[in-house]
Amino acid sequence: MSFSALGLDAAILKAVKETGYTEPTPIQTAAIPVILKHRDLIGIAQTGTGKTAAFTLPILSLLAASPSNGIRALVIAPTRELVVQIEENVRAYAKHLPLTVATIFGGVSERPQIKALEQGADIVIATPGRLLDIIRGREKAFAHIGFLVLDEADRMLDMGFVPAIRQIVKLLPRKRQTLFFSATLSREIEKLTGEFLHEPETVEIGRRSNPADTVTQSVYEIGQHLKPALLLHLLQDPRLAMVLVFTRTKHGADRIARRLEQSGIKTGTIHSNRSQNQRLRALNEFREGKIRVLVATDIAARGIDVDGISHVVNYDFPPHHEDYVHRIGRTGRAKAVGEAISFVSKEDEDAVRALERFTRRGIPRVKAEGFDDTVPSPPRDKGGDRRPPRRPGEVRAPRGQSGQGGARSRRGGRSDGKPREVSMSGEAGKNPQGSSSKKSIGRFFGFGRR
Ligand code: AMP
Repeated sequence: MSFSALGLDAAILKAVKETGYTEPTPIQTAAIPVILKHRDLIGIAQTGTGKTAAFTLPILSLLAASPSNGIRALVIAPTRELVVQIEENVRAYAKHLPLTVATIFGGVSERPQIKALEQGADIVIATPGRLLDIIRGREKAFAHIGFLVLDEADRMLDMGFVPAIRQIVKLLPRKRQTLFFSATLSREIEKLTGEFLHEPETVEIGRRSNPADTVTQSVYEIGQHLKPALLLHLLQDPRLAMVLVFTRTKHGADRIARRLEQSGIKTGTIHSNRSQNQRLRALNEFREGKIRVLVATDIAARGIDVDGISHVVNYDFPPHHEDYVHRIGRTGRAKAVGEAISFVSKEDEDAVRALERFTRRGIPRVKAEGFDDTVPSPPRDKGGDRRPPRRPGEVRAPRGQSGQGGARSRRGGRSDGKPREVSMSGEAGKNPQGSSSKKSIGRFFGFGRR
């Protein structure tokens, strides 16, 4: 299947060619003809499948065929980063068309965004909160919207955006085409599609909620106190060239970034305490290879669209399997191959097993060659990181760095940092062929490949 067979506008085909795509991805092949037929669409696809182009290309094609008339397409996405990335996609694909684009999201001045609403860009890409804030009193701006896209709807549901989306949708013309994208299809998501869409066609790519097949996964069972040392140890391997590290908290992200920087590893962070500009700068530096490691929290990392991420490290294992799927979807994008490494401490074992049941795949437990993972955690009274619980109202100085990992990584044996597969967990360790032999699972997960 070629792009030209899909029925897209010639100016768009030209831009797609210049982008370097040679053929449409499965979600694009399936979704583009449906959208061009003016049908509502439910697209079940993970990030990395090319879903952004799957909706932007046909919308731009349809917009190009009719005259400008204020805002004609509204795309709603959960985070600023995702909004900016969709905008970049739209600008690239629309570069030979006279269409205008505006973005609306929090954390920056409202004034230019209000102006864009009032002047009526052809396509507006927005996060729900800020859009709702500034639309009041300017509802007329929505009068000519013919396309509504809800991107990463499952994430918007998780983030509590559904009431805001409902209020926004109420202000839109009833006669419109609605496109709804989600990585997962839960009962709640299905309920939303019934609310917002009219006789939709559903396009589903890959198994529901399963991590992209191009990502090799592994788990390091490791005490919390050894995580910083293990991360540094693994980073001795130059194959960890472009690494996205996920932490549970923004303070954790800052702590790791400081630690890596102290060891001479160029590192950036993105989390909600960073300004919009700081986040975009970090993302660009990561993209351009000026920093090797980007440490992020889940919410800030939504929709990070960076090609070539070699490794995703779950420094803290995510409690929800949807987050795991989203996190590891940052690597192995399009047709590239990537690796997802998870640090798992005792408390996380249940979450790992739940994930394995959910995805119906076992994740190999591995050990880092030359790393001693048996070093006990420092005694409570001596370790600077182990203070008694904070009393109400107590103000404390920030923690020092000293308590972060009493481990010394002993070099020796194989020094390539390559993981050694050790075991699979329980019955979830069976591969789809029903075999649970370590060897076949190793091969199935691509271990030893590289
Ligand atoms: P998405 O799922 O929209 O986040 O896209 C994932 C990545 O695939 C992005 O970096 C896109 O630039 C890239 N991409 C989208 N469509 C294609 C295509 N047809 N061929 C190759 N890469 C693509």
